[in-house]
Amino acid sequence: MTPLKALGGTSDILPEEAQAWQQLEEKARRVFQLYGYQEIRTPLIEEAAVFTSSLGEAAEIVTKQMYLFEDRGGRSVALRPEGTASVVRALIEHGLDKTSPLNRFYYGGAMFRAERPQKGRRRQFHQIGVEVFGSASPHQDVELLCLLKRLLEEWGLSGWKLKLNSLGCREDRAKIVEHVRATLAPQAAKLCEDCRQRLEKNPLRILDCKEEGCRKLCEGIDVYEAVCAPCKEHFEQVKRGLEALAVPFDRDPHLVRGLDYYTRTAFEVVHPGLGAQDALGGGGRYDDLVKLMGGSTPVPAIGFAVGIERVLMALESAGPKPPEPAARPVYVAAVSSAEIPNALELAEQLRRAGIAAFANLEERPLGRQMKQASSMGARFALILGADEVKEKMVMVKDMQTGEQKKESLADALRKVNHNA
Ligand SMILES: [Zn+2]
Ligand SMILES: [Zn+2]
Repeated sequence: MTPLKALGGTSDILPEEAQAWQQLEEKARRVFQLYGYQEIRTPLIEEAAVFTSSLGEAAEIVTKQMYLFEDRGGRSVALRPEGTASVVRALIEHGLDKTSPLNRFYYGGAMFRAERPQKGRRRQFHQIGVEVFGSASPHQDVELLCLLKRLLEEWGLSGWKLKLNSLGCREDRAKIVEHVRATLAPQAAKLCEDCRQRLEKNPLRILDCKEEGCRKLCEGIDVYEAVCAPCKEHFEQVKRGLEALAVPFDRDPHLVRGLDYYTRTAFEVVHPGLGAQDALGGGGRYDDLVKLMGGSTPVPAIGFAVGIERVLMALESAGPKPPEPAARPVYVAAVSSAEIPNALELAEQLRRAGIAAFANLEERPLGRQMKQASSMGARFALILGADEVKEKMVMVKDMQTGEQKKESLADALRKVNHNA
C-alpha cells in the first residue's frame, strides 16, 4: 500500500510546533479571563442553514468555499467556515440572552474552507475569537479592541496595524451598496472579471479586490459617506475612546469585511510579515444577526477572530525566537533489566510529587542511558542497580557536574524537587 498522506490544505502540527500553539492558546486564555470572557465550544459540523442564513447566500464563503455535503440522513450539513454563526446559533438555542443580559464568550478551533491551498491559506485553519452579546454601546467596541491589542501584545507581536471603519446600520448598508454600484457601473468594463460579477451580486467586495485596475477605480469611494447620523455619532465615540486609551488605528474607507452580517464598527488587523494576504484577523459589530438567525429579540453584538497560523507566520517573520526552556525530566536509569520495574515505580513516585520523569524501560548499557539523559537535558539521573534496590537507596547523578552520590529515596526526592 502506498503510504497515506494528510489531505492537501491540511497539516499535522508536530510536537515541536505544537509547543508554540500551546503557548498562544494559554496566553489567549489568560487575556480572556482578565476581561471576563467565558469559553464556549460548538460543533465543527452544523446544519448548512446556520451559515447560509447568517453569511448570506451570495457570500463567497458560501458559494465557493464552504465544505457542504449531504449526510447519510440526507440533511444538508457544512463544516464550519467561521465561528460566529455557530455561537449565535448556540445563544439562541439555549436562550443564553434570556438568562443573562450580557454574554462574553471566547472560542477556538479548526475552521474549514475549500480554497486553493497557498501560503497562509489552508483548508483546515484555526482561529481564536470572542463574541459579546447584549451591548450596543460604543464603549463596548472600545473595550473589545483594547482586548485585541492586549492579546497581540501578549503574543509578542509588533508592527501590526488596526484598520477601522463603520458600515452603518442595515439601512445604511443598502445605501452603501447602491453608492458603490452607481459609482462603478459606468466603468464596469475596466473591472476585473470577478468584480464584474460582484457588481451585480456583492459590489462591496470590489472594494477589497487586489487587482490594480479595480483598486484605482475604487480610490475615490468612501463608504462612510453613506452612513446615517446616529451611526456616525456611534463611530465618533469609538474613535475618541480608542484615542483616549492609546489604541492606535487607521481609518480605512474601503474596509467592508467579506460577510453580510456586519453593521457599524468593522475592523481588521494587518501585519507586514504576511505578504499580500496580510490580515491576522478581524471582526466587527453584528447588531442584526441574532434576529436574522431566528432570535425572538434583537441582541446587539460584536466580536472578532484571529487566525492562529497567521499569527505564527507573523511571529516567524520577525525572526527566530529562542525556544522556551522545555521541561527537563529526571532520568531514571536501570543498571540491568532486573531493575526496570523499580525504575518504573520510582518514576511514578516522582510524577506523583509533580516532577517530570523519564524511566528507561529497555535493556541497554548504562552508558547509553546516560547519553540519552543528557540529550533530553535531564538535570539529574537516578540510577538503580541491584545494591541500591536491596538497600532502598538510589545513586543520584548530577548531569551537569558528573558527580554521583548514593542517597536514600527521600533525600533524592528532596534534592531533585529542590532543583526542579
Ligand atoms: Zn445608520
Ligand atoms: Zn477586481
